Amino acid sequence: MLLPALATTPAKVALRFPGQELTYAELADRARAVAAGLVGVRRVAVWARPDVRTCLAVVGALLAGVPVVPLNPKLGERELAHILTDSAPDLVVDDVLPSGTPVDLPEPDGEAPALIVYTSGTTGPPKGVVLPRRALASNLDALAAAWEWTADDVVVHGLPLFHVHGLGVGVIGPLRRGGTVHHLGSFSVAAAAEALDTVGTMMFGVPTMYHRIAAAPEHAPAFAKARLLVSGSAPLPVTVHRRLEELTGQRVVERYGLTETLMNTSVRAAGDRRPGTVGPPLDGVEVRVVGDEPGEVEVRGPNLFLEYLNRPDATREAFADGWFRTGDLAVVEPDGALRIVGRRATDLIKSGGYKIGAGEVENALLEHPGVAEVAVTGEPDEDLGERVVAWVVPTATPATERDLADHVARLLTPHKRPRVVRFLDALPRNDMGKVLKRELR
Ligand code: ATP
Repeated sequence: MLLPALATTPAKVALRFPGQELTYAELADRARAVAAGLVGVRRVAVWARPDVRTCLAVVGALLAGVPVVPLNPKLGERELAHILTDSAPDLVVDDVLPSGTPVDLPEPDGEAPALIVYTSGTTGPPKGVVLPRRALASNLDALAAAWEWTADDVVVHGLPLFHVHGLGVGVIGPLRRGGTVHHLGSFSVAAAAEALDTVGTMMFGVPTMYHRIAAAPEHAPAFAKARLLVSGSAPLPVTVHRRLEELTGQRVVERYGLTETLMNTSVRAAGDRRPGTVGPPLDGVEVRVVGDEPGEVEVRGPNLFLEYLNRPDATREAFADGWFRTGDLAVVEPDGALRIVGRRATDLIKSGGYKIGAGEVENALLEHPGVAEVAVTGEPDEDLGERVVAWVVPTATPATERDLADHVARLLTPHKRPRVVRFLDALPRNDMGKVLKRELR
């Protein structure tokens, strides 16, 4: 059963959003009505605003065994048209929830599709990733083991609900555990601090959020109280990790995943929380790094998606001998923890016959006090094939190109040092805080 707590802990708070709260009993009643209203529906799309209504639609659909396509409320017309044409839902849930007289519905099979989550489409039109129930169930249980996550945990959450991070791990996760989702509506450091100071035990965030928390020392005591701070969706800069530890005594736990695989690795709550690593594979997940390091990460296990909707070609190409090719590059540390150095498509720079992972250069540059944010890319170079370019957002005490050259000379072997530094006011990022390197280039 995917959500046993719906029946076992009626009085407990399941969901809290600003101004809205539902116990498990209320959630179960209302979601069963939604499920009844969905009988006969083949596929449902849901405008995934961060509110109780989205959660009710998703839980109702999970009870009814109807696959859900979560839609980013800010989707542009063209992308929306693509997703609706491709997924062809027979119902789009906006303000009004489907409703019917609850009936007992059988628990769907583990291989039945639960979510169809569209990729952000950095490499072509977005693809619908079909995730079965067993991927969610097994992955959430593996995360529970890694994070010692129990029914007593109240997850402070400020992420959107149309990605696997915010919806899969952040909402279905606590509901599977029988714990509480405490959603902030929209993220602010002050709101997250207040939540952790009063009710929260864990927080799930993206690196941009931790960056902002590290810049707000007045709120450090609240973050110090958390049982666990978890980061994912993009690399957490080592400097942010260290700064947070200085301020709060907390070592943020990093996990690594993709829409297609859910989570693959995580630093363990009780393990060695070294900055810059995303930990060893989760229980039941096989991870291998192929070729010379940094090599491509490939994954196998019950956490994997079924297919890309309507794209048998893309599904076939994504696998090599049954292993899913993530497109991410990593090195494996002696204790089995992975260090992600970037993505094959955007972060592997081939310069002078060397393979350079952008992440390593970025972390080195971030150690300079004049660097607030940085992204490293490769650019065509007649002599080297590609040259290393650093895009730097300066701090209030900016560094010159010369200062940065001296700084990296102490930290990086010559072929890894940026040949060009470009200063800018902000890096282009998507709504999960991921840097859009294609726009930079
Ligand atoms: P698309 O697949 O369309 O390019 P996307 O980047 O948004 O879109 P997601 O599935 O949302 O795809 O994100 C997965 C990617 O996020 C991973 O492949 C990896 O590059 C990155 N990622 C996730 N967690 C981490 C982490 N802890 N450290 C570094 N990178 C991470």
